[in-house]
Amino acid sequence: MAADYYQLLDIPHDANLSQIRRAFRSLARGMHSDRDAGADARVTRLKEAHDTLAHTTSRADYDRGLGAQSQPPTPARLFDAALSLMDSFQTYRPSAEALEDLLAQNFTGRMPKSRRVQAVHVEIALSPEQSAAGGVVPFDFPVAHVCARCAGTGTTGFFHCDACAGHGIDWELRRLDVQLPRHVADGASVNVPLRHLGVTNVYLTVHVRVASMPAAFE
Ligand SMILES: [Zn+2]
Repeated sequence: MAADYYQLLDIPHDANLSQIRRAFRSLARGMHSDRDAGADARVTRLKEAHDTLAHTTSRADYDRGLGAQSQPPTPARLFDAALSLMDSFQTYRPSAEALEDLLAQNFTGRMPKSRRVQAVHVEIALSPEQSAAGGVVPFDFPVAHVCARCAGTGTTGFFHCDACAGHGIDWELRRLDVQLPRHVADGASVNVPLRHLGVTNVYLTVHVRVASMPAAFE
C-alpha cells in the first residue's frame, strides 16, 4: 500500500494546520536540495498531500477514504530471509567465542555474580527505500538449553554425550523481530532486549547503515 498523506508528511493523524504546513515546508526544502530526477515528482506529491490536508473539507473527505480502507498497518519485513547472529555478520563485538560463553551462562546456571549487561553490536545495511519505509528485520538469535541426555555433564557413562557433542548444552535459534522505525537514519542504533529469550547478560544493539546513493543511480 502506498504511503498515505499523513505518512508522507510524517505527521500524526490529529496534526493541526501549522504542523501540516511546517512538515510540508521542511520536507519540500530537503527534497529541492536532492538533485535527482525523482525530486520534482516527490515534491508534487507532497504538495498534493499538503493541499488536501490543509483544507477542512478535503481533509474530511480524505480521512473518510482512509477509514474505508481500514487495513491494520502490519510492518513490512525488510528482508525475506532472517539474519543470523552467527552467520550474517562479519563483525560484531564481542568475538564469537566470547559471545557463546556469555550466552551459555544464561542457560547453565553458571552466571557470575558480578556480571554486567553487555551489548552485542551488529550492523544492518539498508537501501534508502528500506530506511524510508522502516519495518521488521527478522533475526535468528541463538539460545541454549542444558542437554537432556547428559544433564549438562557432557558425558554418558565413560563416553562423550552424542546429543550435545560433549558440550553439555544444545543450541537452537529463536526468531526475533527487530522493529526499525520509518525514516531510520544512517548511523541510528536500536537496542533490543533479549530477556524474553532468557538472556539477561546481553542485549543486541543494531546499527543501521543506509546506502548513500539513491537506488536510481545504481
Ligand atoms: Zn549431552
